[in-house]
Amino acid sequence: MSIDKKIIVGLEIHVQLATKTKMFCGCELVFAGEPNSRVCPVCLGLPGSLPVMNRQAVEFSILTSTALNCKVAEFTKWDRKSYYYPDLPKNYQISQYDLPIGSNGYIEIPLGKGQSKKIRIRRAHLEEDAGKNIHSGSFSQVDLNRAGTPLLEIVTEPDMNTAEEVKLLAIELQRIVRFLGVSEADMQKGHMRFEPNVNLHITKDGQVFKTPISEVKNLNSFKALEKSVAYEAQRQFDDFNETGKCMQSGNKKTFGWDDVREATVLQREKEEAHDYRYFPDPDLVPVVVDEKWLGEIKTRLCELPLNMEARFVSDYGLSEYDASVLTADRETAEYFDSAVKAGGEPKRICNLVTQTGLKIANEKGCSVAQLGIEPNRLAELVKMIDAGQIGATAAVTLFTEMMQSKDLPLQIAERLNLIQKSDAGELEKIVDEVLAANAQAVADAKSDGKKSKKSVGFLMGQVMQKTKGTANPQVVSKILEAKLKA
Ligand code: ZN
Ligand code: MN
Repeated sequence: MSIDKKIIVGLEIHVQLATKTKMFCGCELVFAGEPNSRVCPVCLGLPGSLPVMNRQAVEFSILTSTALNCKVAEFTKWDRKSYYYPDLPKNYQISQYDLPIGSNGYIEIPLGKGQSKKIRIRRAHLEEDAGKNIHSGSFSQVDLNRAGTPLLEIVTEPDMNTAEEVKLLAIELQRIVRFLGVSEADMQKGHMRFEPNVNLHITKDGQVFKTPISEVKNLNSFKALEKSVAYEAQRQFDDFNETGKCMQSGNKKTFGWDDVREATVLQREKEEAHDYRYFPDPDLVPVVVDEKWLGEIKTRLCELPLNMEARFVSDYGLSEYDASVLTADRETAEYFDSAVKAGGEPKRICNLVTQTGLKIANEKGCSVAQLGIEPNRLAELVKMIDAGQIGATAAVTLFTEMMQSKDLPLQIAERLNLIQKSDAGELEKIVDEVLAANAQAVADAKSDGKKSKKSVGFLMGQVMQKTKGTANPQVVSKILEAKLKA
């Protein structure tokens, strides 16, 4: 008996947009704040209040849809999705039903080694978030600060076949919306929430069995997303082996995720025949996206991170790892790119940015681009390393000095006496002095014994010390070698 299983996963993602105000009212969008302090008659759902569309939220949605290769609707509208819940005072959510802003697109996810996979996007629509119910002991409270927050809901086709791919898509989407500047995509603040739909196609003796679909609700970390998909796949496989149960129309199950037990928890056995009574919101006018507006928004598109990452590998010869570190955020990626375009050797620029720069930037809580070293000055610094004017240690010293001074690195290096001595005549004199003062080490170095290598290193160190680290090590090494052979 042969048995083979394939995981099938589609994903729904809610992305919170980084607009200044809420979706249909003027309440400010900031994290935290006293419960129910950022509310008004509109987001409280008071009778007689009228919603007004947030133009920025629509533009962010169009921009994201374009980046996700979606067709942007020329005409779209707002629909009421009716349901009752304490955190939804209007008893309906304003969403988009049959005319989403974006449809039929795809996102490319990196699989490593230059490989990528296209995952189709079914739709991307804009809607408002609900408030939050806070349960404490025997009673519950409602905080409506979040009510009316703009969310872009992105729905993929079931094109992912491993838990790893699901996680990669989530990470790639985070990188894209950050590059576009449409969302902070901060997981800790709940800016991205995931709902995977998981089932298995099991091939047993040539026959294919499809297990019932599980939807896992409201995941807010990459780890929970990946683990819940892997867990569901295994649980469904075990369940199938035990019961042989297959998918029938409508038997989708809804699960929650228990972060402590790292297991899914059944919430609803049968998919209720949801009747949300969708109908166009009579309080809002439809949205017409004409060529001019669309064209204007498209000018805000930037090179996408995956493309940039591939370019850094192919054009600049960086490793995939280095390229992915540099493209984690747009500012750093563009900073690096500018420094290379200003003539700096890519690998050296990369090392200074990812090792020295990112460390300092993290301590300061800013980006490398904000450290005060313009890309062209960074390129100048790297050119000095290449020309043998400074060594690696001096380069780091110069980097930190350049944050304070607007001078060119060469001027600073001269001022601080960091320029490497490469003049063979001058260095020969110093080597001679060192050899004369360390007869025993010279004898050891000349011998074939165990101490030979160590003694050469010691003599080298003495020369570096005498020159305060400014001697060009390659030149010193050559002189030393020649003298010890003589
Ligand atoms: Zn409001
Ligand atoms: Mn939704």
